[in-house]
Amino acid sequence: MEINASSWQKELQAIYSEKFIYNTNSFNDDTISEVAMLIKQLIKANCTAIYLYNSWKDDYVLSATSTCEANTLKPSLFEDSEVVEFSYDYTAQCFSVYEGKDLFEEPTKDLSYLMPLNSGKQPLGFLLVTFESCMANDAIYQQLDGVASETFKLLNRLGDFSQTKEKANKYELLYRVTRKFHSSINTHDVLVEVIKTLRDVYPQFNYNLYLSQDYQNDSELPIKELIYNEEFANKSSVQAFLTGKVQMEHNTNNTKSRLFAPLKGKQGVYGVLQITAPNTLLFPSKDIEFITLLAITAGNALENAHLYQQSQQLISDLQLINETSHILNSNLRLTETTFFMNKQIRSSFNPEEVGFVLFKDNNYQVLEGSSSYFLLSESSLFLEKIFPTLKIEKESLFVGDYNSKYSDSSFKYLSVIAIPMVQSQQAIGAIIVLHPSAYYFSFETFKLIKSLVHHSTLAFVNSILREQLEDLVITDYLSKLFSRKYLDEKLQEHINTDNQGSFLLIDIDDFKNINDTYGHDLGDELIVQVANIIKDNIDELGFAARWGGEELAVYLPKSTLDEAIEIAEKLVKLVERGTEPCVTISIGVSHWDVKNSTRDKELAHILFEKADKALYNAKRNGKNCVVQAN
Ligand code: GH3
Ligand code: MG
Ligand code: MG
Repeated sequence: MEINASSWQKELQAIYSEKFIYNTNSFNDDTISEVAMLIKQLIKANCTAIYLYNSWKDDYVLSATSTCEANTLKPSLFEDSEVVEFSYDYTAQCFSVYEGKDLFEEPTKDLSYLMPLNSGKQPLGFLLVTFESCMANDAIYQQLDGVASETFKLLNRLGDFSQTKEKANKYELLYRVTRKFHSSINTHDVLVEVIKTLRDVYPQFNYNLYLSQDYQNDSELPIKELIYNEEFANKSSVQAFLTGKVQMEHNTNNTKSRLFAPLKGKQGVYGVLQITAPNTLLFPSKDIEFITLLAITAGNALENAHLYQQSQQLISDLQLINETSHILNSNLRLTETTFFMNKQIRSSFNPEEVGFVLFKDNNYQVLEGSSSYFLLSESSLFLEKIFPTLKIEKESLFVGDYNSKYSDSSFKYLSVIAIPMVQSQQAIGAIIVLHPSAYYFSFETFKLIKSLVHHSTLAFVNSILREQLEDLVITDYLSKLFSRKYLDEKLQEHINTDNQGSFLLIDIDDFKNINDTYGHDLGDELIVQVANIIKDNIDELGFAARWGGEELAVYLPKSTLDEAIEIAEKLVKLVERGTEPCVTISIGVSHWDVKNSTRDKELAHILFEKADKALYNAKRNGKNCVVQAN
């Protein structure tokens, strides 16, 4: 073979600068193939091949070859144990293979030179050149050294350029992602963005997110539950979570690598990002750096989103407690209190059943306003079971799976929250919340219900005391009319002795609107105004009482039906004229006399029922009027 001793390096330099001076494209396989081809043509080699270092595999891989007989070059050249040994021997400047016997399975007559592409450090790659039927020769070696050095310079320049470009692209992406994170207050959006960005940069990898239980319902994301009990303590995901440091797993058998990057904020670690790279021995350090940065950015964004969600939750919890306390402070009756609490608990926590029980010595009483399950007799088994904990130990119950905790498979509500109402170190009752699904209520819900119960206990006590007191006193505390109980007694006395009498049931019209418009305090004040008008006009004629709420009642002993209607109509007019702000009343009137009625215990009740029906008709007739009972 003829070799022109001086020119290969110079010629190659000229060729490279002509071909690649304007090459600003990335450093890809086509570029390398072109280089291999150009070398082959120049030096008239039988074949050329370029092996380049691949940082993901930590080895040299065949990147381009000038021949279609590439197979004869054994692309897995560097996987051969003998050669691998060589490939790490970076001090070797040159390696020439005579007769191919060390490298090729089938000996050939060819002569191959393996030239490192380097400048003293670890080679960027190797150039393999094969000549047909040629002798080893120092002159060729010198020439090839020049070719290798020129090729190294070219590849190095192109490589540097494409690396810089790649880096710039990645950091631009990171910048965009960061901006997006800062504008998002939703943890789901943040995580979706992290996975999307990674898939853009490394489409060949698989991704998982190890997160706490709260995220398990998010099907859009590749979420795995992060369990960090002792059993799993050695797992890399757990290690990453606990130490806040990136962890690696290399599986040399099937060349798979895993990276675990903690999603870390300033106050803690919020999860772990797992990246699985198939066919990879090792994550290059620049990629680890990028992934770590992304994970930290995501960790901070998650932290912000968490803090925001937490503060929103706290605000709404406080609003709930505030609103509840405010309403409960307005002197509701016991049933109004239970109905209201039932409504609050339902709208906030969506349970299936809500129950209110009062404790009396060694017994309990289910209050009106409890949901249907508590009114069934079968609930007594359950209530008796939890009674000691609530009443005697004054402890709350927070159970996620009642059946397994109490080995009781018959009970259909697995999630149980039961909280005693404790006043002056006495458990006066309890509020119980149930749901059939296991682990339905979060610990936050439990704490919030506990807080609600705590704030409502005094209202319950007040309502109970007030109702007990009402039984004892004869004057209503607000209206200063007689109490209902007193009117009941008087009515019974008169029925027993008189020959006739009339009963007026009075209800203030549209009183809900009044409360809604002017507030409860003014509502109370209006009840007093109406009561005073009635009291002033009934005076000696009979007894006026507060029947309950904004309903009042009057008994007129010995009066005829006509007299009663006349008085009722006068009251309707006076109230309309005499209240400020103006309210109206409707009245139902009932009457009895000995000729048409039996003087018995039932009569008082019948009088009330008839008046109530008449009142109902008065409301239907358009209110602000009197209707007499049939
Ligand atoms: P209607 O004309 O059909 O009677 O309409 P209404 O809005 O008056 O309806 P209803 O009688 O059913 O409701 C009465 C409301 O009065 C409900 C309750 O919140 C309120 N209320 C009951 N007792 C009191 C009380 O002592 N003080 C105040 N401020 N409001 C009360
Ligand atoms: Mg009413
Ligand atoms: Mg009313």
